[in-house]
Amino acid sequence: MTTNVGVLALQGDVDEHIAALERAGAAAFAVKTPADLERAGALVIPGGESTAVMKLLERFGLKEPIVHRVAAGMPLWGTCMGMIVAARDVADLNQPTLGLIDITVRRNAFGRQNESAEVALPIAAVGAPPFPAVFIRAPWIERCGPNVELLAKRDGHGVMVRERNVLATSFHPELTSDRRVHRYFLAMVEQFAERVKGKSSTAA
Ligand code: GLN
Repeated sequence: MTTNVGVLALQGDVDEHIAALERAGAAAFAVKTPADLERAGALVIPGGESTAVMKLLERFGLKEPIVHRVAAGMPLWGTCMGMIVAARDVADLNQPTLGLIDITVRRNAFGRQNESAEVALPIAAVGAPPFPAVFIRAPWIERCGPNVELLAKRDGHGVMVRERNVLATSFHPELTSDRRVHRYFLAMVEQFAERVKGKSSTAA
């Protein structure tokens, strides 16, 4: 069974994610309303501008249902702005977030001269060779909670993390042709779908 992966489509690089997910073997579609979200078995929050998207999430009535679904086990992946929106909090800023993963992030952390860069990033969880990671005004992770798995670091700072059903990357795997991080997320999606199935078959 293929899980339908929704891509939050309020703002940001939505089409690139949909195309990359489809190339990695998933069925993907744009999520703009709570009804769209109900059809999604997993959700990607793409890159964009985090303060704008938090306001739009409230306005479109998506904030509560996303928090509720993720707490119930729906897999979620935030890239760049999506990582900021998913984080517990933002360093030195009183910025609202969804609090879906126990990390503190710093916005635009890699500095002005480094606003955009492609870095060869070793990620053991997806195997060799290093991953071509595109950073665009990217956040880094300043604090990880006790249950957060640190999957990759750039210049000593966390840039890829996972806590249970939530994955977050500072960089943009949808902007390269390497599909390994998309496949890693789809493996998480399968794993959680299996758990849900496992639960209902024990109940039956
Ligand atoms: N700098 C943006 C923010 O802080 C994130 C940039 C991105 O998603 N490429 O919201």
